Amino acid sequence: MPRQRPEERIRNFQEVALGYSAEEAKEEAKRCLECSPAPCKEGCPVEIDIPGFISHIKEGRFDSALNLLWEKNNLPAICGRVCPQETQCEAKCILSKKGEPSAIGRLERFVADWGISQKSKVSLGDLESPRDERQSPKSPSGISSPLGTRGKVRTIKVAVVGSGPAGLTAAADLSKIGYKITIFESLHLPGGVLRYGIPEFRLPKRVLDFEIEGIKRLGVEIRTNMLIGKVFTLKDLFKQKYKAIFIGTGAGLPRFLNIPGENLNGIYSANEFLTRVNLMKANRFPEYDTPVRRGQKVAVLGAGNVAFDAARVALRLGAEEVTITYRRSEKEMPARREEIEHAKEEGLKIRLLTLPIRFLEDEGGWVKGMECIRMKLGEIDESGRRRPLPIEGSQFMMEVDTVVVAIGQGPNPLLPSYTPDLKTTPKGHLLVDENGATSMPGVFAGGDIVPGEATVIDAMGHGKRAARAIDRYLKRGGKR
Ligand code: FAD
Ligand code: SF4
Repeated sequence: MPRQRPEERIRNFQEVALGYSAEEAKEEAKRCLECSPAPCKEGCPVEIDIPGFISHIKEGRFDSALNLLWEKNNLPAICGRVCPQETQCEAKCILSKKGEPSAIGRLERFVADWGISQKSKVSLGDLESPRDERQSPKSPSGISSPLGTRGKVRTIKVAVVGSGPAGLTAAADLSKIGYKITIFESLHLPGGVLRYGIPEFRLPKRVLDFEIEGIKRLGVEIRTNMLIGKVFTLKDLFKQKYKAIFIGTGAGLPRFLNIPGENLNGIYSANEFLTRVNLMKANRFPEYDTPVRRGQKVAVLGAGNVAFDAARVALRLGAEEVTITYRRSEKEMPARREEIEHAKEEGLKIRLLTLPIRFLEDEGGWVKGMECIRMKLGEIDESGRRRPLPIEGSQFMMEVDTVVVAIGQGPNPLLPSYTPDLKTTPKGHLLVDENGATSMPGVFAGGDIVPGEATVIDAMGHGKRAARAIDRYLKRGGKR
């Protein structure tokens, strides 16, 4: 897929991958064998009819391809950009046995972007969803969604807490069935990590806005600045006649190394660093109010998607040198291969088998260095990867003026802490059954707040599963 040249893109926040043209998409679609049964479908947590939509692309019927995607997925332009297809649908594609799998993700993105381009006469500012459109949902492009609300009268209210991919999907699916959905979101804008975590150069916010608008057009109301647990408790929501609640509050609690000096100025959690730039637009300070440190020598600790996103943001803020510091080897790095390749092309340094053990302070209280120790790999540990072990006496210093800690996030603790009836795991995730039902009657959950994979598509799969379970629960009159 064509993309911006590395020397250009490190100076801007625009999207790196540019997408297929119609001709390229049709050529790629022709490679699909339209298998039946199709193994790729098993790899899709939201059950998209993959050979079906690809066959429409082959024939140039992009609107039919889009409608087929929408039957199962309300966020196709997002999934086409950020889903790890290489470990999901594409990993199962029959063509991967002999060579390259069908580029399912890129084709999904092509079709969804084609849908966005169809509305180009309407500006996104005009897309605010009027409440009286609830009974005749249309996508912002004007293409009817086949799973619209079918003229149902909405009387039964369901609340969704959190507007990340889990909450948005649960809300869309429940709205399509005919429930009256309100999403309560604590931030001032919806989208969860899609908004505040994943940077513009991987997921443009206009794409997110478009797909959220599509969900609002299904009749979903989104109320922002509503921290549930504080503004309303879950019991308050039931008192307000919400008959069921879906919780998709995500994992936004940063983890730290807990080593000396970690509270120095210039050391950020990835969550804070990315939120400042992606949500609060600190890259455009002072035009926007929020500042961020534009370091020259930046170390990013960790090697997942979050670490690579933070490192590539630091580069674009003007850093001279950005180093990913990781205690294992390249093989164990959890980030998507494509992101690692893009980051390497952009000149990012990767220091493997290295663990920081303390930070050093300058006279103004800012971080000026990092003492590290070299590591070697031992036996396989409980994570299934070889355990990193320190090599005695191998300490060395790294000069840094900014550090971003990206070693993982834990589940958001606020809502469970205000809701003793919700049972949690020792790590603070909500305990749910196979349908996403929590320990509290009428309350379901999914996405990063429950144990399991932490990807956009898995969160969406949970939202879908819970929507079906909530529908069954309400049809049984609120009994499990
Ligand atoms: P979230 O997206 O975290 O959304 C939760 C929402 O709930 C937030 O908007 C939050 O403000 C709100 N909330 C929290 N508490 C409350 C409350 N009490 N009341 C009201 N609202 C509340 N996955 C991929 O598949 N591909 C990627 O490339 C990828 N890159 C990533 C990059 C970064 C920087 C990060 C952080 C994650 C990335 N992930 C990626 C993981 C993926 O984004 C998450 O797994 C996914 O967003 C989880 O969705 P969710 O709906 O459970 O939660
Ligand atoms: Fe097409 Fe691959 Fe799916 Fe077969 S497995 S239908 S070739 S995408």
